[in-house]
Amino acid sequence: MHGNIFRYKCFDMGHPIDELPKTEDIPPRCECGSLIRPDVVWFGEMLPENAVMRAYQAIETCEVMLVVGTSGIVYPVAGFPGVAKRAGAQIIEINPEPTPITFDADVSVRGPSGGVLPQLLEKFLEKRAETP
Ligand SMILES: [Zn+2]
Repeated sequence: MHGNIFRYKCFDMGHPIDELPKTEDIPPRCECGSLIRPDVVWFGEMLPENAVMRAYQAIETCEVMLVVGTSGIVYPVAGFPGVAKRAGAQIIEINPEPTPITFDADVSVRGPSGGVLPQLLEKFLEKRAETP
């Protein structure tokens, strides 16, 4: 949703930049003359429309949504769990504190994701190994 820090684009036209030009100019410029920047969404910028559309397509067909380590207050992403819930998905929230998403969650696990996710994966792998 928020781009890729390992990719670049130009400010004015959004031209994708595969490789930074070899230059003394800091910051470097695109062939169109515009400055080059990381291909990420900065505070106050809109999310890429196609990324939002692809996310909604995935949300409408998912069976389970993991909501991990988010405040749950920045839209449109904060609305994704509610959309998934209405489409029939189970919502599992992992967060140290309750959030507005807790209301829609079928399961809320309190704790930091770095501790909870490895434990969940371990339990999942155990259960899967037991299943014939
Ligand atoms: Zn450009």
